[in-house]
Amino acid sequence: MVEQDIAPAMGSTGKSAAGVRVQFTTPANIQLSMYSLPIYRDFTQRHGYDIGYRDIGYLLLVPHDRWDRHLESVALQQSMGAPVEVLDPIEAQRYVAFDSKGLAGATYGPWDGIIDPHMATHAWVSMGKTLGVEYHLNTPVTAIERLHEGWVIHSGDTVFQCGHIVNATGAWSADVGRLAGLEVPVGPKRIQIFLSAPIEDPRTYPLTIDLATGVYLRSEGDRVLFGLDNLDQDFGFSEGMDWDWMEHVLLTGVDRFPWWGELGIDRKGSWWGYYAVSPDNNPVIGVNPGDPRWIDACGFSGHGIMHAPATGLAVSELIADGHVHTLEIGGFRHDRFETNIAVEGNIF
Ligand SMILES: Cc1cc2nc3c(=O)[nH]c(=O)nc-3n(C[C@H](O)[C@H](O)[C@H](O)COP(=O)(O)OP(=O)(O)OC[C@H]3O[C@@H](n4cnc5c(N)ncnc54)[C@H](O)[C@@H]3O)c2cc1C
Repeated sequence: MVEQDIAPAMGSTGKSAAGVRVQFTTPANIQLSMYSLPIYRDFTQRHGYDIGYRDIGYLLLVPHDRWDRHLESVALQQSMGAPVEVLDPIEAQRYVAFDSKGLAGATYGPWDGIIDPHMATHAWVSMGKTLGVEYHLNTPVTAIERLHEGWVIHSGDTVFQCGHIVNATGAWSADVGRLAGLEVPVGPKRIQIFLSAPIEDPRTYPLTIDLATGVYLRSEGDRVLFGLDNLDQDFGFSEGMDWDWMEHVLLTGVDRFPWWGELGIDRKGSWWGYYAVSPDNNPVIGVNPGDPRWIDACGFSGHGIMHAPATGLAVSELIADGHVHTLEIGGFRHDRFETNIAVEGNIF
């Protein structure tokens, strides 16, 4: 494993909102969650590491014009074994205060919640070491050579040889692909998370998303983190905080969450990171069409934490067995974009 940073989880993983959920609209994504969430839920029992999983839930606030479609997705989630509760807007207010104007109802996922991505990554690194995985940190891949039966990876003067390459470099995946002359249909978009000053309410707010606007929030200790993903922005490695966007988020969300009118902001505690985004906001998992020994696992938008265990399994089966047999990942192949596959509706 070669990583350019000096420690694991310094890329998007350490910048995430750390949410995990089963509430998706396509069978493809629901099965990734249904494989992954039990691993997070039982991690300590199975592997002996605390990864900070807490079932604080995801609460989706659904406007009238999405309600029927949303209930169809809930039926699909439940048919695949996912626990999801349907609530009326009054019941949902036991979790967090909001104005129910325009809302038909809400859904709550009791398995959904958060993990600590740093703790989870460090657990996997430790477990990998016991299996003999070599981790090379502070080792940026600078050049890649194709051999007849594998690859040579260069990091400055250091050289590694391998049979397969797994390109799991997130927002940087297209750049890494280009080092081998391969196209990877993924690019970076900056995403920001804003943090409030401490609030008085002792409740732990679930990761609550207003589907009418896309605005979301959840508790972070005695504070609230909140945001609104700007997926319409152009691709690019733009850096730093955009405080105008925070004003936009607050103005967009204050009608739903009127208490935001009094919310203090912790500017120093707010942060930004990159989404790795494909044309349909779903990941690209599979053999790159340009070379059978190159596997891409990238482009997860806001779902890479929650779908990491399933992705790891799929990639390992591809390499060890030549095909993925536990999960159905055809919908994440490279050539799907021109085809008529189901597009995920719950992208946030
Ligand atoms: C603000 C924000 C909120 C999010 N919220 C959630 C959420 O609630 N739930 C969720 O599931 N997901 C969320 N995500 C998305 C999630 O963080 C990502 O999908 C996930 O972390 C992707 O993991 P990764 O390992 O593919 O990428 P990364 O964690 O970015 O890892 C890629 C690694 O590749 C390394 N690299 C790049 N180029 C090279 C090179 N040339 N040589 C060597 N190494 C290289 C980088 O240094 C980096 O460490 C969020 C993301 C952001 C930014």
